[in-house]
Amino acid sequence: MNLMEIGKNPELHSTETAEQTKNSETITESLTQPSQTPEESLIKLKVERDILVQSFERAKEFMRTQKKQIQTLEEEKLKILSDRQRLREEVRKSTVEIQRLTIELSETQKLNQSLQKNNDDLRNRNGLKSRSEQEQLEEEIKDVRDRNSKLQIQVNQSSVEAFEQAQRKQEEAEKQKLLEELKGKENITPDGRKINIYANIGSVGDLGYVMENDAGGIGLFRSEFLYLGRNDFPTEEEQFQAYKQAVQTMAGKKVIIRTLDIGADKQVEYFNLGKEENPALGYRAIRICLKQPEIFKAQLRALFRAAVYGNLSVMYPMITSTEEVEKIYAIVAEVEEELKKQEVQYKIPEQGIMIETPAAVMISDRLAEMVDFFSIGTNDLTQYTLAIDRQNEQLDDFYNPHHEAVLRMIRMVVENAHKCGKWAGICGELGADLTLTEQFVRMGVDELSVAPSMILKLRKVVREMKAEE
Ligand code: PEP
Ligand code: MG
Repeated sequence: MNLMEIGKNPELHSTETAEQTKNSETITESLTQPSQTPEESLIKLKVERDILVQSFERAKEFMRTQKKQIQTLEEEKLKILSDRQRLREEVRKSTVEIQRLTIELSETQKLNQSLQKNNDDLRNRNGLKSRSEQEQLEEEIKDVRDRNSKLQIQVNQSSVEAFEQAQRKQEEAEKQKLLEELKGKENITPDGRKINIYANIGSVGDLGYVMENDAGGIGLFRSEFLYLGRNDFPTEEEQFQAYKQAVQTMAGKKVIIRTLDIGADKQVEYFNLGKEENPALGYRAIRICLKQPEIFKAQLRALFRAAVYGNLSVMYPMITSTEEVEKIYAIVAEVEEELKKQEVQYKIPEQGIMIETPAAVMISDRLAEMVDFFSIGTNDLTQYTLAIDRQNEQLDDFYNPHHEAVLRMIRMVVENAHKCGKWAGICGELGADLTLTEQFVRMGVDELSVAPSMILKLRKVVREMKAEE
């Protein structure tokens, strides 16, 4: 393409203005006009030259763009070619895989047919099987069944374990939440009534839980643990060490230790209690202590010695009469006398009784004059009031500690205690029944002693209820 042709090419003019097109037409005309002066011709020629240079530049730019487009197209072509190559390769591989699978399938079908045939042969022969072969077959069937049921048990066990684990996690989370919310807080209702919330424990090993759950003290320390699981009576020294550890750990907080409550549901071989028709109504607790004072005295000595080391109280179980309390005090006086004579360090602690028989409830006005406090054992009180052996599972449906008779007895005991200026608490299971907390507080119950895990739950209820109706 020469310069004239470039000038005429419409594509190259696509971006030209109308003015520029007109200029190039003028140049062409001027070159063909002979009547011009040399100066005029020179100027015109210069103008024409400039215009041609511009056109030339545009033509170069156009060619550069074209070249670039060609290059891009080339690259795209190469990419398409390589994609096509890759696809071809994949198709080839798939074809090989399909062939392999087809061969495998036909082999499996053949194997299946032969197994089916063997199976049919075995079935046919089964009718003619010898006795030993039959036995062997039965054995195998049993074995498979056993393994299946074991597997079933394992599956069930693992789901039970998973469930229990989830439950433990949830309980732990709830406990943590309660601790964050309530640790160190008072057991006080919004209208200002305070109540002591203490813990029930069965051994010194439980002291950690008591502290962990922020109990205000120990309301029932079942001392039987020292007597159970051994072949002979614990020595006074052993007992003293255990009680001392408890009061020292509780560092000034009240620790109420219940004296021996063996018998009935708590049998110990070496006590030689003999077989009884009705052990719940039999030789148990304070009755043993009063009949065998040497056992009782060893425990009292240990308790009075330990009382020097902290805030210890003693309480006596299964009281039914004022005479029993008088007998207890006579033995206490003897023990004190002996300790004094032997110049052993001791302290006579606060002494209370458990109210767990209807007899004790009915004479609680008189008993209140004799003791420092009452602790109501609702487990036995329910048993004796409703004439239901708490050990007999057949009677579980009849065992109703919410019975009006039981609740009225609790009210009566609290009122009689208060008339004498004494305090009354509940240490039976019912104390932890959150549906009754409001009722107990309104009755004037001064203390609730419950399992360590219930302490903060109880505190929460107390802090959210009203003592006055
Ligand atoms: C009771 O009888 O309520 C009680 C706390 O004592 P135990 O359960 O040990 O007999
Ligand atoms: Mg009891």
